[in-house]
Amino acid sequence: MSEAALTNDPESTAGLQRRDAAHHIHPFTDTAALNAEGARVVVSGEGCWITDSDGKRILDGMSGLWCVQIGHGRPEIAEAVHRQMTELSYYNTFFKTTHKPAIALAERLARLTPAHLNHVFFTGSGSESNDTVIRMVRTYWDAVGKPEKKTIISRWNAYHGSTIGGASLGGMRAMHGQGGMPIPGIVHIPQPYWFGEGGELDPDSFGTWAARELAHAIEAQGPDTVAAFIAEPIQGAGGVIIPPDSYWPEIKKICADYDILLVVDEVITGFGRLGTWFGSDYYDLKPDLMPIAKGLSSGYLPIGGVMVGDRVADVLIDDTGEFFHGFTYSGHPACCAAALENLRILEEEGVVEHAAKIAPYLQERWRALGDHPLVGEARMVGLMGALELVPSKPSRTIRFDNEGEVGTMCRDFSLKNGLVMRAVRDSMIIAPPLVITRDEVDQLIDRASKTLDDTLDALSKAGRLPS
Ligand SMILES: *Cc1c(COP(=O)(O)O)cnc(C)c1O
Repeated sequence: MSEAALTNDPESTAGLQRRDAAHHIHPFTDTAALNAEGARVVVSGEGCWITDSDGKRILDGMSGLWCVQIGHGRPEIAEAVHRQMTELSYYNTFFKTTHKPAIALAERLARLTPAHLNHVFFTGSGSESNDTVIRMVRTYWDAVGKPEKKTIISRWNAYHGSTIGGASLGGMRAMHGQGGMPIPGIVHIPQPYWFGEGGELDPDSFGTWAARELAHAIEAQGPDTVAAFIAEPIQGAGGVIIPPDSYWPEIKKICADYDILLVVDEVITGFGRLGTWFGSDYYDLKPDLMPIAKGLSSGYLPIGGVMVGDRVADVLIDDTGEFFHGFTYSGHPACCAAALENLRILEEEGVVEHAAKIAPYLQERWRALGDHPLVGEARMVGLMGALELVPSKPSRTIRFDNEGEVGTMCRDFSLKNGLVMRAVRDSMIIAPPLVITRDEVDQLIDRASKTLDDTLDALSKAGRLPS
């Protein structure tokens, strides 16, 4: 077929890109810039690999968007969803009704999550879960006779979703800049980002400082007005920010001292990402509320929820009356069936144990990339890691001009080399499927290493490195 005929074929890569550009506005995308370049069309996935419309196989170092714990393309999930859809494709859980998949999933989650979390409120996504958190936290304090406790404290550069509530809880300044956020009653404190913001302090002193910023914010707001603190155990979208060891113990103490609720956003860290079932297990946290999504269904169908601790559940169930909140798709039967089958696979195939076992090997090889001239820090916990790209080392304080440009360049090289890495500012992120094998770890590291060389080469040719 001639070049021109191929381009006219609506199912060719060029045809698909043209049709995508004509009618599709992409999330978190400069759509005009994308349309000029053409989107990569992903056509299939299996295990840790995706294949694009040109037949190129790419190692999915990001598990889609941090969610495909069990890998792509497991037929058991498709079969479980098919069975459920044949029996009951949809019914709601409002108005005194329920159904078997919602019952079974609630029961399973109560068993798998930390001991004091025994109830779930179902949502369709992580963002909806965090909007639910705002409603629940404030309703809780109303019900216990402290309605002045309304303010929720979060961190700069946190990510809690993209609805108005979720984005307001989040600390992404670019997001706040579009659409009048944050909503009132949400306050942000510094993040425990030692590499970027630790200055002259050692990691543990900085971690303690960052935690005490919570106490300072509570005092500044007035302790009687603060309802909750929300945080990811490890910030994901913010750039895999791993807090110093001193951080979480101090945060726990402050929440207890001031009697504010602790909300631990486990949308990424839940379901095995850190080699434990939950980030709360890893850091020994006792969240009052725990938003979940992503790995709950390994992304096969959209479903999320808020795990509700006994303290809040007792009040919400016994003292609140009707909770005027819910979604048409809360506990959607097909999504629950996908989640149940995903959890069965995680448990029966020992996927979380596998993650814990493979993590030290990936970490060792990942940290060795820290010797590359472009890498200022290589960090990883469980199976989520980051490489901080810097123009010269050792140089925590020296950053590239035009933040994000080098990260994007490196990301593009990575895809060319057959590896999905994500760029956050000028750092590179990975969070591969939990089922990754030793051989795939080697391939991931080889490709990441070549990508760093390619980036260094391009920067040096462009005269962007100090001589
Ligand atoms: C992805 C994410 C969310 C939002 O989830 P969506 O399903 O995209 O709405 C919330 N919190 C964290 C920590 C996330 O990573």
